[in-house]
Amino acid sequence: MRKIVIAGNWKMNKTVAESVRLASEVAAAARDVQNVVVVVAPTYLALAKVADVLQGTKVKLAAQDVHWENQGAYTGKVSADMLKEIGVEYVIIGHSEQRTYFGETDDTVNKKVKKVLTLGMSPIICIGETLAERQGGRLESVLTTQVNGAYEGLSIDDARRTVIAYEPVWAIGTGVTATDDEAQQAHAFVRSLLAKLYGDELAQSISIQYGGSMKPENAAGLLAQKDIDGGLIGGAALKADSFLGIVTPGDTLSK
Ligand code: PEP
Repeated sequence: MRKIVIAGNWKMNKTVAESVRLASEVAAAARDVQNVVVVVAPTYLALAKVADVLQGTKVKLAAQDVHWENQGAYTGKVSADMLKEIGVEYVIIGHSEQRTYFGETDDTVNKKVKKVLTLGMSPIICIGETLAERQGGRLESVLTTQVNGAYEGLSIDDARRTVIAYEPVWAIGTGVTATDDEAQQAHAFVRSLLAKLYGDELAQSISIQYGGSMKPENAAGLLAQKDIDGGLIGGAALKADSFLGIVTPGDTLSK
C-alpha cells in the first residue's frame, strides 16, 4: 500500500509569527486525519518555531531546500544535519522554481537527495515539464532525464524512502491544472520509469504527488486517479481551510 502524502509548500510566504499561526491551525484541523501524511514546508527561518508547534501532532515538517555539504563556506545555505536536528522529516528538492531561478540541475538534485537519505529524512523530488517541452512532444524524455538523474546511484532501499512530486511547470501558480487524465498519464509514466530502475514492487510502493494549482475544487478528481498519491500544494496551502479542503478528500482513499 502507498502512503498518500499531501504537503503544503509555503514558499517565501508568511513571517515567523504567521507561520506559527498557520501551523497551529493546520495541526488542529488535521487532528482526525487517518490516511494522509500531512506535511508543511515553511521558510527556513520559521522551521524551528513551527517544529515546536507540531510536536505531538500528526503534521510533519518539511524544508523547501537543502545543501549537500555538511558545513563550510556556503553563504546562504543550510545543511541537512541542521534540518535533521530540529525535526525536519521531509525535504523538497528540485522544485521548478529552484531549477528556473537558482541553477538547480539534475546533478545537484541527486547530491541533495543522497544527503537527505543518509540522514534518514525523505526527499520530495520535484520533476515536471514546461509547456514548450510538452507541446514539443518532449514530456517523456524530460521526465526520463529528471527521474534517472535524481535516482542515479541510489540503492533500492534508498529509493523506497523517496517521494516524487510530478509538477507540470505550466500548472504551478498559474491557476491552470492538468486534467485528471493528463496527470494520471504522466504519473503512470513516472511509475514505469521507477519500475525500469528498481522493479515493479518498488515502483508500486513509491508515493507520487501531483502539484500545480491543486485546490479543493479539483483535488478529489486528481487524487482519485490510480497513480496519484497526494499533492504538493502552493497557493492553496497558505490557508488552513483550503489546505484541509485538499487533505479531506485524500483521507477517504487508500492506494
Ligand atoms: C508548488 O509550488 O509546488 C505548487 C504546486 O504551487 P501551486 O499549488 O500554487 O501551483
